[in-house]
Amino acid sequence: MKTALIFGISGQDGAYLSKFLLSKGYRVIGTSRDAEGSSFINLQKLDIHDKVELFSASLHDFRSVLQVISNNAPDEIYNLAGQSSVGLSFEQPVETFESISIANLNLLEAIRFLEIPVRYYNAGSSECFGNTRKPVVETDPFVPRSPYAVAKAAAYWQVANYREAYNLFACSGILFNHESPLRPKRFVTQKIVTAACNIALGKQDRLDLGNIEVERDWGWAPEYVEAMWHMLQQELPEDFIIATGTYHKLKDFVSAVFSVLDLDWQEYVQYDNKLLRPSEANRVSGSPKKAKEVLGWKAKLQMHDVVKKLVESRYQEISTKG
Ligand code: NDP
Repeated sequence: MKTALIFGISGQDGAYLSKFLLSKGYRVIGTSRDAEGSSFINLQKLDIHDKVELFSASLHDFRSVLQVISNNAPDEIYNLAGQSSVGLSFEQPVETFESISIANLNLLEAIRFLEIPVRYYNAGSSECFGNTRKPVVETDPFVPRSPYAVAKAAAYWQVANYREAYNLFACSGILFNHESPLRPKRFVTQKIVTAACNIALGKQDRLDLGNIEVERDWGWAPEYVEAMWHMLQQELPEDFIIATGTYHKLKDFVSAVFSVLDLDWQEYVQYDNKLLRPSEANRVSGSPKKAKEVLGWKAKLQMHDVVKKLVESRYQEISTKG
């Protein structure tokens, strides 16, 4: 039986990855900054809370990282922890950098120090590319446009450097946006879906949004965590873009959400310039060609499928709560 250690198991991806690895027969261990205090609501929603082993670990704290790795002898480590909001990163740039980049460095150092043959996955991000004119590939340069993207770019290069310098099996998945009902409510996609459902149920009048012209590639989170696992099963460690390969304006995402509920979005959405970010990547699009060719991974659900699932789930949740 293989053992997987997931840092950030309480998040969206941590929960789906746990479920996937359990289905593959793995022993799954996960960390949270406060395992005693966390309710692990996502693990509960997926009905796997009692099937995983949970520990407290702070990725800022080298000793705590070293301890949880050496005590559990994992075959695979997935680092999915850290401040994950681009918007919040403008308000908390230091916390963002430390929780992503210093954390990643602590993990790489711990693996190097322990000299164990573990395989390491780092959660990279499409935001590193900044504005993309054409669908980018893995070798295209990073031009990060937020503190979050800068921190993710640093972590990406740390992984590449440790792989080369110390021969570690370490890779970064450069994942494009992926959504699910488990995504935290602060994200704009969740804000849109929740507001539209509330409007349909007569609980809200309008939705305020910033720049709806930005273009992103939205996929389905449960599919994306499978790609993470595939990366660690390869003979050699490499970095991969994981995306659907199709991008849409945020405006189109909004329109799709409201049309699932038979509503015209233009009657309810208002522009609020307070919601604009200091700098923004206008279009982030990428090619998942390498993932298809090498990993055999391809996204099945596209933006409209994802929207339908998100709306159905949130609508049911809100109507049940009353
Ligand atoms: P979530 O925000 O759902 O989960 C991240 C987890 O990290 C949280 O559950 C939390 O665990 C921990 N965490 C949150 N803030 C901090 C902090 N300031 N310091 C340390 N730990 C923190 O993220 P996702 O599951 O959506 O994403 C997983 C990883 O993939 C993240 O690194 C994210 O940046 C990256 N990513 C996500 C994409 C997406 O579309 N979802 C796209 C590209 C990359 P706890 O409170 O238990 O400690």
